[in-house]
Amino acid sequence: MDGADGPAGPSSRDPDAVRRVVALAGGIGGARFLRGLLIALDDTGRDSNRKSEFTEVTVIGNTGDDITLFGLRICPDLDTVMYTLGGGINEEQGWGRAGETFAVKDELGLYQAAPQWFGLGDRDIATHVLRTGWLADGVPLSEVTRRLCERWAPGVRLLPMSDDPVETHVLLDDPVQGERTVHFQEWWVRLHAAVPAKSITAVGASAARPAPGVLEAIEAADLIVFPPSNPVVSIGTILQVPGIRDAVVGARAPVIGVSPIIGGAPVRGMADACLAAIGVATTARAVAEHYGPALLDGWLVDDVDAATMQPPLDGIAVRSRPLLMVDLDATAAIARSVFDLAADLRV
Ligand code: GDP
Ligand code: CA
Repeated sequence: MDGADGPAGPSSRDPDAVRRVVALAGGIGGARFLRGLLIALDDTGRDSNRKSEFTEVTVIGNTGDDITLFGLRICPDLDTVMYTLGGGINEEQGWGRAGETFAVKDELGLYQAAPQWFGLGDRDIATHVLRTGWLADGVPLSEVTRRLCERWAPGVRLLPMSDDPVETHVLLDDPVQGERTVHFQEWWVRLHAAVPAKSITAVGASAARPAPGVLEAIEAADLIVFPPSNPVVSIGTILQVPGIRDAVVGARAPVIGVSPIIGGAPVRGMADACLAAIGVATTARAVAEHYGPALLDGWLVDDVDAATMQPPLDGIAVRSRPLLMVDLDATAAIARSVFDLAADLRV
């Protein structure tokens, strides 16, 4: 939030006005949080006193995880958000389609076609076939995503961070094979990030332009949220698209983050390996310091990390509460705490 030009106080608000939330999101952590946020927005049935002031959500999705396999363009983070909010996600896994089958993957295996480590499901492939066809016809990824979302009706406007291809690559210091560069998906899915990364680079990011509507959404936002997504390869990648970081820093809206790190470890996944690659400790405090007060106005940490947030961080208001998204109610309660912290920062 740009401190010089803070938003108007609550008393000056028109109750019928459109109030906009913008979230920067990766895959599972982002999508699960957003599901809770949508419940918290539309809460009248559950607890009429808690109906949120916010009415519209725009999600700016990470596309650095995107990969082309067997000629198909795959956007794992966009699809995770779309399937999760649209009710098509495999709940246990957190990614991919519910009721998935793997006949195509098995057939590819019989051709000895590589790679076999990527979980390419039959239902999921329909999404990739459509996306790849539209992209080949020259339809931009943002429009492709809009068309796919017509089916899933995720309840948010889902924008890719950019229509230009960006792919995160990882420079490995492999004790066996020496230094080599692999696609992020190979490091993450095949190697489980067990081989240390010397560096992580979002190839194409510096020349990428924000997708249509991205900068406008950030500028018009009343609240900007960093869900508990990976700070390096999800939110960090989005912020590398020229113009997006500056827009968030200059936005009039408060920027509130939710820590993906609890008790010195990621809740799931290998964010610790990503943070190590950029020299940031795997703690809620270090991640807040890494974002810094220019980006973040508020930071939610889990209660187990409350003591580590002393002494206070300069320019970032911190609150602690349970941050495990164990079910929808718990997740909606986290989102309400984000709204509350934003409201506190306005007065
Ligand atoms: P990905 O693209 O699928 O890896 O998903 P994201 O980047 O959006 O989110 C990954 C992050 O979500 C990981 O670093 C996890 O620590 C975090 N995460 C997952 N579940 C929870 C949870 O219940 N609570 C919190 N605070 N973070 C979580
Ligand atoms: Ca991801």
